[in-house]
Amino acid sequence: MTVTVLDGKKLSAEIKTELKEEVQRFQQTYQRAPGLVVVRVEGDAASGVYTKAILRIAKELGVEASVEALPAETTTEELRDALLRLNRDPAVHGVIVQMPLPEHLPQRLVAETLAAEKDIDGISLQSAGNLALGFPSLYPSTAAAVVEILERTQTPIEGKRVVILGRSNVVGKPLALMLLQRNATVTICHSRTQNLSEVMRESDILIAAVGRPTMVKAEMVRPGATVIDVGTNARPEGGIVGDVDYASVSEVAGALTPVPGGVGPLTNVMLMKQCIEAAWRQERERARA
Ligand code: NAP
Repeated sequence: MTVTVLDGKKLSAEIKTELKEEVQRFQQTYQRAPGLVVVRVEGDAASGVYTKAILRIAKELGVEASVEALPAETTTEELRDALLRLNRDPAVHGVIVQMPLPEHLPQRLVAETLAAEKDIDGISLQSAGNLALGFPSLYPSTAAAVVEILERTQTPIEGKRVVILGRSNVVGKPLALMLLQRNATVTICHSRTQNLSEVMRESDILIAAVGRPTMVKAEMVRPGATVIDVGTNARPEGGIVGDVDYASVSEVAGALTPVPGGVGPLTNVMLMKQCIEAAWRQERERARA
């Protein structure tokens, strides 16, 4: 069987072209750019790298982005105040809080405080509630990236059996709800799932988000299935490897995302897409008020 490679870089370039036009339209309408703030509490080196990547793509698209850098010793009250200030700031349409936060700052504080309309990575309680209840929402960007890949490649979802490996709040759980909304039959697997290979082999669409290098092997995949690999695992020799054993799975799958070059390139693009959508929504609301 010849596998179709689902090329995230190509899709990402396509979406970026659309978003640049969208930003220009927004700018012509409101004489300002969509505004984004990345809140970063100092301490985690990796989150500094993510912040730079977000600033780079924002600049490329014409989104006005800045960093709210808070010292490592920031208190709960100071973080809450900073978020409340950004919630009120009309020039800020989207806010991302870089995770992980230092241990003394509860993630729940962010989930409770960030205004849902500016929560472009879908982490607030209200966003999660909207998603669970099937109301319009902003979504966790990685989950949104997976759905975007499936939709842009015209992969049938309705009525299909989807198996998701991993139940994290940022990938597995929101993704399950997003696909359920699209009328898939969804099974979520995790570290306690029994007969995992058997369950996986039943899927038309298999999504791996476990964080275990090359865990998914060819014998776990139904011939012809679409396989989406969310995993980004650092290799000891440098670079990253997915949760799917690309070499063997590409022999049986119908379609497959590579790592790198699959879901990864779309994640920050989806953040920007949601920021631009949030900007339109907020400015329209303001004009109506
Ligand atoms: P996470 O919070 O660590 O969750 C991992 C999930 O996998 C958990 O639900 C865990 O089950 C399950 N799991 C672990 N070992 C398993 C096993 N042997 N069999 C079945 N299930 C198992 O991970 P995450 O944040 O969702 O990330 C998952 C992967 O995606 C990581 O490689 C991460 O780097 C990558 N990622 C990529 C992007 C991107 O932009 N491409 C974004 C986010 C994450 P339990 O719940 O039972 O522990």
